[in-house]
Amino acid sequence: MNVLVWYENKPLPEAVEAERRIYPNGIHGALGELFVTQPDFLVRTRVMQDTGQGLTDEDLDWTNVLVYFSHKHWRDIADDRVAAMQKRVLEGMGLLLLHSSHASKIFSRLMGTRTQCLRWREADEWQRVWTVNPAHPIAQGLEKEYFIIPKDETYGEYFEIPQPDEQVFLTTSQGGEVLRSGCCWYRGLGRIFYFSSGHETYPVYYQSEVRQILINAVRWVHTGNKRIGWPNWARESGFIE
Ligand code: ZN
Repeated sequence: MNVLVWYENKPLPEAVEAERRIYPNGIHGALGELFVTQPDFLVRTRVMQDTGQGLTDEDLDWTNVLVYFSHKHWRDIADDRVAAMQKRVLEGMGLLLLHSSHASKIFSRLMGTRTQCLRWREADEWQRVWTVNPAHPIAQGLEKEYFIIPKDETYGEYFEIPQPDEQVFLTTSQGGEVLRSGCCWYRGLGRIFYFSSGHETYPVYYQSEVRQILINAVRWVHTGNKRIGWPNWARESGFIE
């Protein structure tokens, strides 16, 4: 399957050094290096500074699963790129949204809520990620009912999202907050998974449980459509453009 890893790639001044130390090839580089370990994944990486903000029609047409990491500059994404991503999700492209991508135009557009709204705090706190749906494909390979991320940004409820179609993980923090942290939705023919862990100044994406979840999530959001698009019967019936 074709996996496009996209990163905003514009860290805040205070995070530049830590991010460069932890992710010398960028977050997109680290995620790309993880996904190429899967023999059936073909991987491209793009950043916001690339042509078409790294989200050209050509790249999106190629993509079966889009892995998306945005941060403070989420408002900079052009509305026509948001529309292009939404169209492709509705026609079957998988979308994996990571961490601060909760505040992205595409997530908000697909959910219909102000997904940027949640509680957050950067305080070096541990996070306990509980599996609340052990039978779910995204939880496969996790050996315990929970695992601990030694340090991550704390996110907490209330998180303005529609109730997930499938809830896979809940996270509790050292400070006592809770978060719906691993959430699945279906929109049109597409699948969406949001996973909250992974603040850029902590090495979260090197942790084995997280890597297992990321690979599982790419596989789950992939609907199996070889070519993205509505089936012929839908076109022939004339009810779509
Ligand atoms: Zn963060």
